[in-house]
Amino acid sequence: MTIKNYINGEFLNPIGDQWLDNYCPSDGSIYGKIPNSFIEDVDLAYESANSAFSEWSQTTLDTRSRILIKISELLETNLDRFAEAESKDNGKPLSLAKSIDIPRAASNFRFFGNAITQFSSESHESVGQNAINFTLRQPIGVVGCISPWNLPLYLFSWKIAPALAAGNCVIAKPSEVTPMTAFLLGEICNDAGLPKGVLNIVHGLGETCGQAIIEHPKIKAISFTGGTATGAKIAQVAAPMFKKLSLELGGKNPNIIFADCDFEKMLDTTIRSSFSNQGQICLCGSRIFVESNIYPRFKEEFVSKVKELKVGHPSDNLTKVGAVVSKSHKEKIMSYLKSAENEGGKILCGGYESVVSGFENGYYIAPTVIEIESNNCRLNQEEIFGPIVTIMPFETEEEVLQMANDVPYGLSASIWTQNMNRALRMSKSIEAGIVWINTWMMRDLRTPFGGVKQSGVGREGGMEALKFFTEQKNICISYD
Ligand code: NDP
Repeated sequence: MTIKNYINGEFLNPIGDQWLDNYCPSDGSIYGKIPNSFIEDVDLAYESANSAFSEWSQTTLDTRSRILIKISELLETNLDRFAEAESKDNGKPLSLAKSIDIPRAASNFRFFGNAITQFSSESHESVGQNAINFTLRQPIGVVGCISPWNLPLYLFSWKIAPALAAGNCVIAKPSEVTPMTAFLLGEICNDAGLPKGVLNIVHGLGETCGQAIIEHPKIKAISFTGGTATGAKIAQVAAPMFKKLSLELGGKNPNIIFADCDFEKMLDTTIRSSFSNQGQICLCGSRIFVESNIYPRFKEEFVSKVKELKVGHPSDNLTKVGAVVSKSHKEKIMSYLKSAENEGGKILCGGYESVVSGFENGYYIAPTVIEIESNNCRLNQEEIFGPIVTIMPFETEEEVLQMANDVPYGLSASIWTQNMNRALRMSKSIEAGIVWINTWMMRDLRTPFGGVKQSGVGREGGMEALKFFTEQKNICISYD
C-alpha cells in the first residue's frame, strides 16, 4: 500500500520521490511505503492552504458545520475499514480501534461541527463613556497540526476538527510510524465536500517534515501532541517567531487507591488504566499507590487479573494486549525492565517479550507489574509508555500526595475513595490538568484537556480549542 501526501485535494507523491517503509507491528513486516516529505512538500501544502483560506474563512458556519458532520458520518460508515487500518498500522487490538479510536475520531468531527455553531464572542459596554466594545474571534490563517502514533486518528482529528471549524486552513502531519488512517481521511474529506486545499496532510519524519512545518514563517500557530523533549524543541523554534503554540506532552500519572474505595470497580478500571492500548496512552495511570491496609489484597488480586490478560494478535477478538508500536519502542520499554531490578524493583508478573504463535517477529511485551520501594526510581520518574506499571503502599494522605506530585509531569491523576471530602481536598492539591475520582478516562469533549509542568502548555477540548484556533480582535465604538 503506497501512502501519498494529500495536498489541494489530490494525492501526490513526495516531490523528492523519497519514501519510508511502513511496518506492521503485529508481525514486523513492511507492508507499504510512506512519503518522506521535506520542506518543498510543506511549501506546496502551504501554497494550497493559503489559496484556500480567503474562501474557507468566509464560508458560513452552517456550511462548515455540515461538512464536518458529514466527515464524521463517513467515518462511521467506514468504521470497519478505518479500524482495521488503525489496528494494522499501530498494533492495537482491533476491538479497541473499533470501539474507541474510530468512534472517537468521528465524535471529534461531530462535536466541533456542532460547537462552531455555538461559538460566540463577547461585548463590553464602557459604562459612562458612551462606548461599546465587541470582540471578534477570527481564524488565524494557515495552522500546523502535528500528532503522535498512540491514538493516531483520534488525536489527529482532535486538532484538525477545531482548526477547520474555526475557519483555518490546515497543514497536518501524523506520526510517520502510523500514517495510514490520516491518509484514508483525505478521501473522506473529498467525499464530504471539504474544499480543496482547506486540509493538507503531509507525511514524513518529525525532524525534517515536522520541523519544516514548525519553521515555516507563514504558519502562524502550531498545535502539537507528542513527547516532552520534542515539545521543548518545538517551543524553541516557535517562540522567537511568535507563533501561537499548544503543547500536549507526556505524563506519568498517579493512580491513588484508598482502602474505602469500591474495590471491584477500582480493580477493573485499574486494569484498563494500566494496560489499555498496551499502556501507550498519555493518560495511563502507570504509578499505582495503594493504602497499606489493602495493599496485600490489591497486590494479589491485581497481579492475578493481569496474568489473565491475553497477549495476542490485534485481530484476535480475545486479545487484550496487542503489539507495541515499533521495534525501537519495544526496545526502549525493555530497557526499563532491564534496569528495574537494579533499582530495587521486584517484577511480580510479566517482564519479558511475549511470543505470539505465527507472528514471532511482532513486537509483543507481557503486561508487567513491578513492586517498588520508592517513588524516586527511574521507573516512576520517566515516562515508559508501555505495558508496565509500578505498585507501592502508602500510609497517609500527605505522604501519597507528596509522591503523586514528585514527578516532572502533571497530566492526569485518578483517586479512588468513597470519602468525598478527601477526594476534593486531594484534587485541589494534585498538580495535574485532569483529575478523575472513582473513574478513569471518562471524557466529555466540552471539558478542558491538557497538563501542567512538563505535560504541556495550553488546553484543548471544547471552546478552549476554538479559542486557540482563533485570534481575538477588540473593536471599540464611541457613540453620542
Ligand atoms: P514524538 O514527540 O516523538 O512525536 C510526535 C509527533 O511529532 C510525530 O508526528 C513526530 O513525527 C513529530 N516530530 C518529532 N520531532 C519533530 C520536530 N523536531 N518538529 C516537528 N515535529 C516533530 O512523540 P511520539 O509520537 O513518540 O508519541 C508519544 C508521546 O506523545 C508520549 O510522550 C506521550 O505521552 C505523548 N502524548 C501526549 C498526549 C497528551 O495529550 N498530552 C496524548 C498522547 C501522547 P515522527 O513520528 O514522524 O518522528
